[in-house]
Amino acid sequence: MMLSGWGNFPRLDCRVAAMRGVEDIRAVLDEAPLIARGNGRSYGDAALQPHLTLLSRHLDRFLAFDPANGRLTCEAGVRLETILEVFVPRGWFPPVTPGTKFVTVGGMIASDVHGKNHHVAGSFGRHVESMRVMVADGRILECSRQEHADLFAATIGGMGLTGIILSASFRLLPIQSAWIRQETIRATTLEETLEAFEESADWTYTVSWIDCLQGGKCQGRSLLTRGEHAMPDELPAEVASQPLQPRRKRLKRVPMDFPSWALNSWSVRAFNALYYGAAPKTAAPRIVDYDSFFYPLDAILEWNRIYGRHGFTQYQCVLPKQAGREGLRRLLNTIQKTGSGSFLAVLKLFGKQDDLMSFPMEGYTLALDFPLRGPTLGLLLELDAIVADHGGRLYLAKDARSTPHMFRKGYPGVERFQEIRAHYGARGKMQSLQAERLDL
Ligand SMILES: Cc1cc2nc3c(=O)[nH]c(=O)nc-3n(C[C@H](O)[C@H](O)[C@H](O)COP(=O)(O)OP(=O)(O)OC[C@H]3O[C@@H](n4cnc5c(N)ncnc54)[C@H](O)[C@@H]3O)c2cc1C
Repeated sequence: MMLSGWGNFPRLDCRVAAMRGVEDIRAVLDEAPLIARGNGRSYGDAALQPHLTLLSRHLDRFLAFDPANGRLTCEAGVRLETILEVFVPRGWFPPVTPGTKFVTVGGMIASDVHGKNHHVAGSFGRHVESMRVMVADGRILECSRQEHADLFAATIGGMGLTGIILSASFRLLPIQSAWIRQETIRATTLEETLEAFEESADWTYTVSWIDCLQGGKCQGRSLLTRGEHAMPDELPAEVASQPLQPRRKRLKRVPMDFPSWALNSWSVRAFNALYYGAAPKTAAPRIVDYDSFFYPLDAILEWNRIYGRHGFTQYQCVLPKQAGREGLRRLLNTIQKTGSGSFLAVLKLFGKQDDLMSFPMEGYTLALDFPLRGPTLGLLLELDAIVADHGGRLYLAKDARSTPHMFRKGYPGVERFQEIRAHYGARGKMQSLQAERLDL
């Protein structure tokens, strides 16, 4: 089967097997190297192994739910969109959600995904109470912070390299409505953007869209959005009688791969000017449905096709807070100089790191999409050097091209991670293309 991540690069022919149940998986363990795949929403090569890629889409059952405390137990192939469909009308929401709901529980744990609430809630792994993991010799281990704690910690953010997650238990968050009270703040400089984050530290959800092609006085201008789950008495009259009923939306689809010239510094500049100009001039609160707030891009199916058939990569880094300002400035200077920034440039303030291989650390994360063209890879190496200089690191769930050196510099826990993998027999067996590239 031809497979790729969301960035459509690399794209290659992989032998695949479906994980329908435990015996199916055990039957192919001897054929390692292999890697588990969720819904393929990581951007690069993390869920690819040409030798054998295990598809989790059939592991999709809910196993238990405790309404007294919101604890949900489900199989690893359950999708976040299904959890939302079933649980939002019952008054529960995922404790942490990435910017797309088309991901699986296994993928969310393996990438230890973060959301707009990282500064208060940490990443997804913080909310996982236990997991069942099949390790390389076929044993199924129940693990948690108390039991097989090393395997548990290394599997969160471990990119599928410790074993196959079969199921997990985690707590959902109680909500009183399917709506979000949102405010948008306009910041005209990087300084103002960072101040707006500090000022919004008490808000549950914060994120900013940043115009990465602006230089000079306007460098770092952005729109910071902050939000809270709305209470029923805040809702407009037409939805107040059914506060937990989500709004149904018609999805659109990108019909074809765009030609590669369609995205260039002019089109991105034009988009950015329009987007910034159209934002509300005051921070007056608005009530929006949760899909619009958390998953605006999901409304356009296959939007990755606008980057053309050569694909694209997302560059997501995090810089520690002290060095963040200077590092961000250098990153923005370099991007602006080349004129190859994307319109999906997102800046976010992170709280503390949770687990051994978790991507988030206290500081600022910047994420930008770049179409894959000749000069892009050179530019990304320049950005790598800036990130490394400032003690930062890259997010493996988005990565398709970074080097072993860059990876090891950014993830000091890697030696311990490798020991744990060796202890559970995973080295050389649970192995993605990304792991091979990063010399893991
Ligand atoms: C539009 C968009 C927005 C996004 N926004 C965010 C965001 O805001 N925050 C964020 O953190 N991420 C974000 N992501 C990245 C995404 O959340 C992660 O890549 C996530 O891991 C994808 O889940 P998946 O089920 O598609 O996993 P896949 O992409 O299929 O796999 C990802 C990793 O998980 C491993 N894995 C999957 N299933 C299992 C299993 N059962 N057992 C062991 N390992 C497994 C794979 O081996 C691989 O290493 C975004 C992605 C897109 C496309």
